[in-house]
Parts: sequence; structure tokens; C-alpha cells
Amino acid sequence: MRLVTFVDKTTKEQTGLLLGEHILPLAAAVQAAGIDVDVSSVLAIVRGGAESIRLLAGLVARAGEFRPICVAVNTVRLLAPIPDPLRNIFCVGRNYVDHIKEGMPGKPSEVTLPEVPQFFTKATHTVNAPHGDVRLDTAITSRLDYEVELAVVIGKGGRDIERAQAFEHVFGYCVANDITARDLQRRHEQWFKGKSLDSTFPMGPSLVTKDEVPDVRELGLSLHVNGELRQQAKVAQMIFDIPAIIASLSAGLTLEAGDIISTGTPSGVGYAMTPPHYLKHGDEVLARIDGLGELRNRVVAV
Ligand code: MN
Repeated sequence: MRLVTFVDKTTKEQTGLLLGEHILPLAAAVQAAGIDVDVSSVLAIVRGGAESIRLLAGLVARAGEFRPICVAVNTVRLLAPIPDPLRNIFCVGRNYVDHIKEGMPGKPSEVTLPEVPQFFTKATHTVNAPHGDVRLDTAITSRLDYEVELAVVIGKGGRDIERAQAFEHVFGYCVANDITARDLQRRHEQWFKGKSLDSTFPMGPSLVTKDEVPDVRELGLSLHVNGELRQQAKVAQMIFDIPAIIASLSAGLTLEAGDIISTGTPSGVGYAMTPPHYLKHGDEVLARIDGLGELRNRVVAV
């Protein structure tokens, strides 16, 4: 299933199932089908666990019946599937070898790989829509940069989750762009500030349940700026895979349903180019992951 949060002509925020080029609005579908599932938000659906998924999968099977209440995806405004996360987004830094190397040009002998995942977080107000504008606050930063990443959403919470059980705790996946103010990232030393400017975490376009992704390692990520390919890699290239990330993060730290973990970016970021290419007003950033969809965001100077 592909869960979306969207706003239609009524301007009411609602949840839906993405069915190709159409969205099945869930509040109406659940009512018509007479099933008892809290579909008030994608977060509520995630918290509903396996039973919610089972009941909503029944709606997918009967999608033909609900055709009359579907809306065309191009007539609504998609929001991030989880527009208001419970708490900060967990992120992994330096998780692709080539990205670590590009950050240390001319010093190949000094490149050392991390022994444990490097975690940081982004503030909740970074969350942005799949087609939302990204603020380039020119008074604050002149070095805004992109990072395409696979985001994992936790289903069943837990602490001290072992590698072997990690996927039991995954609800699903989406595309994310960990947009970063490089100047703030460096100046403040601790990464939080440079990673937490408003609108700098576009995510979506839908939350794809894990059953739709047979082997997450095979997914390819890519990112284009104004049509120019900048980043291209496979999830399999991550240094710490999803089970390693979940095991490490949940050690002594309780993960909750709806938590978002962004798993790191491959090489090709703008700051490592010669000369560096930072995002500027009017740029269109296209972040894509095979089978999950794409984010298309315009940079707007303010
Ligand atoms: Mn990142």
C-alpha cells in the first residue's frame, strides 16, 4: 500500500491510498466499507499496526467499487505522508563510502570509515511536501545543499531491537531529501542547526509499506538539479544497512511507531563538486528512489 496525506479543494488535510494516478480518500472509503480503522492521519494508521494494515488492504482489493469516490492525484496537493512527526527525524551521517571520500579530497590515506553509525536529528519543522518550495534564507545561509536518502518509518516500536528482528519493526519507506546548510553545519560544529532549517526535509510522495519492497537493498536512488544528474547509487552501498541502523539506534533508546529514520546520502553532493555548486533561487531538485516515487522541489530565496 501507498499511503498519502493530501489537501483537496475543501482544504481539509486527509489521508488516502495512492492507486496509480488516483487517490482513494480513506475517511470516505472506511465509512462506505463499514470498517473500524482510525484513518485520521498516516501516523494513526501506522500506530494501528498489523490490524489496520489488514483492514486497509481489504479496501485495495475492492478498489474497483470505490472508483466513484477516488480523486485524480493531479487535482490535489500532496503533503508529506507524516507532515507532523512526533519528534525529531533520526538521521545517519556518512553512510556511503564514496560520500565520505568526496568529503576528504586529496587525502585518500586519511579516509577512515565510521565503526558505528553517526546519528544526528533534524527538527520536525523541517518536514516539507513532495512538491513544496524549499526556503533559501539568504540572510542565514549561502551554502544550501541536497542529499537524496532512503527514509525508513518504524511500525512496531521497541528497544534493544536485534538485527534479526529489525524488519519486523519497519512499517515502510519513502524518499527523503536531507537538505543541509553547509556553512551552518560547519560553523556550529554540532550538525543540528545546519540540518534543521524550516522546509529542508521534503519527504514522500507516499509512505510505501514494506510488503511492496521485496528487497530494499536493490533500490536505486538518484538526484537531479535542473535536469542534471548529481547523485546515483543503490541502497546496498550503505555502510550500515537497515538492520544495523535499527539495532544501533534502538540500543537503550525506545523507538516508537511513526519514528522516521533517514539512512544517509551517497556521493555527488554539491559542496564536493569542483567548484562547489550550492542551491540557488529557482533550482528544481528531483530526488527519486526506484519503486517509491519522486520528490520535486523548487528552491525559493527569501
Ligand atoms: Mn544526510
